[in-house]
Amino acid sequence: MSQMDFTILKFNHCGKTIYTFDKNRLQAENTERKCPICQEHMRFSLLEAPIIVPSPFSNGHKVPCAFLIGSSLGPAFLSELQDSEMHVGVTNSQGVVYSYTSSGVQKEKQGWEQCLCVPLVAPGTGSDSFGTLWDNKLEQFSLLPIWSPNRFEEEREFGSCCYGFALSLLNQLRRSESRELISREDFTQQHVLPVVKMASKYITAYQEIYLHGFYTAH
Ligand SMILES: [Zn+2]
Repeated sequence: MSQMDFTILKFNHCGKTIYTFDKNRLQAENTERKCPICQEHMRFSLLEAPIIVPSPFSNGHKVPCAFLIGSSLGPAFLSELQDSEMHVGVTNSQGVVYSYTSSGVQKEKQGWEQCLCVPLVAPGTGSDSFGTLWDNKLEQFSLLPIWSPNRFEEEREFGSCCYGFALSLLNQLRRSESRELISREDFTQQHVLPVVKMASKYITAYQEIYLHGFYTAH
């Protein structure tokens, strides 16, 4: 289950809220759905029709100027329980992801197709000149000697590495705009934990459906 490509549907039956994959949509539109618990055919009025649960994952290469949380092992590893498998990066205005690894700063045009995104600028800010400015700052920052491969282990001792790179970059941008700097704790609390928590719930439901065909919320 490295990719999480199925859509999750949510509906009520047997007095429970039930989640399943939307596989029926691939078949005839009027395929009758059976309730996975009572096995009865289900008919829904328009108001109670199953709804799609939005996926928390985005294609990071399509979100310019954003903080990304990804995992090389796949989106299923983006839950609270798996934080050692997470890797973070920042996109430029063209969706190229900059991240700090043991080989130095990487610039990737693919590999972040299913990740969690924290936009760093308001939508619509992206004028061409703003994008160019952002890209130049990102490029210059990534060339600083502090992000050399041989310093990676050293940085790891302080728990920074990829996260430290992304946050330092963010603070450098804030400084240049005379905005207050943000601490690692505050950024994590305000921006990272909410998306990771939401993803965790989705991943739990997804894994249960994958294994058992359905999931019910308690
Ligand atoms: Zn039922």
